[in-house]
Amino acid sequence: MSSNVLLNVNGIEVIYNHVILVLKGVSLQVKEGGIVALLGGNGAGKTTTLRAVSNLLAGERGEVTKGSIELRGERIEKLTTSDMVERGVIQVMEGRHCFAHLSIEENLLTGAYTRKDGKAAVAATLEKVYNYFPRLKTRRTSQAAYTSGGEQQMCAIGRALMANPKMVLLDEPSMGLAPQIVEEVFEIVKDLNAKEGTTFLLAEQNTNMALRYADYGYILESGRVVMDGEAKALRENEDVKEFYLGVG
Ligand code: ATP
Repeated sequence: MSSNVLLNVNGIEVIYNHVILVLKGVSLQVKEGGIVALLGGNGAGKTTTLRAVSNLLAGERGEVTKGSIELRGERIEKLTTSDMVERGVIQVMEGRHCFAHLSIEENLLTGAYTRKDGKAAVAATLEKVYNYFPRLKTRRTSQAAYTSGGEQQMCAIGRALMANPKMVLLDEPSMGLAPQIVEEVFEIVKDLNAKEGTTFLLAEQNTNMALRYADYGYILESGRVVMDGEAKALRENEDVKEFYLGVG
């Protein structure tokens, strides 16, 4: 395994409620500074894979029953979600989950709750987030409930950034958004990756968009990786074109 592998998921099985086997031996790697797409249809196991990495399974009555997950070589499958946040791994959940009654800025500030480096450092990160998401700056005092779906998605990503993450796990960032807004969100992800070095593992049903921005992709079907490769190679693969890109 090369030294710049940040995340190494090795043959994991995940079971919900002690009986429902959902992941049947998933392996994947994410290199430091990479953008990796986890693709596949409804129920393929994308969200479950992200939850396994960020240790959010327990709240869903799920557990990793086989295999291992390593972050920079450290086994992490027995850690808690807050241990993962401390290690710089933050998940942005599907459906955005902004606090509806809080303003955009209050939402963003909740993302900094684990930081111990003082108010000035948090304020500097907030300004940085506003630089990446000028829309959020304009809407900083608006109650999240009254902002658009795109703004809420940006708010959810911005809130994750407030923790100064090394790796962001993005679950279906395109869900429910107009194509132009999806493009805007992905452009910001690309920018963050290039300028801040933030690593992204993103689960997406929008294969076309994800493969335009990712450098590597894994395709999941029924809890198994059925194909993986460089994003460019996947985009040109005839099966991917036919079954996932809608051109064939
Ligand atoms: P989607 O895009 O629909 O979210 P996905 O690829 O992210 O799909 P998962 O959400 O990981 O897939 O779901 C994989 C399987 O696990 C599905 O059959 C789903 O019904 C099941 N599942 C997910 N969460 C739970 C849970 N908390 N308890 C029981 N089964 C679950």
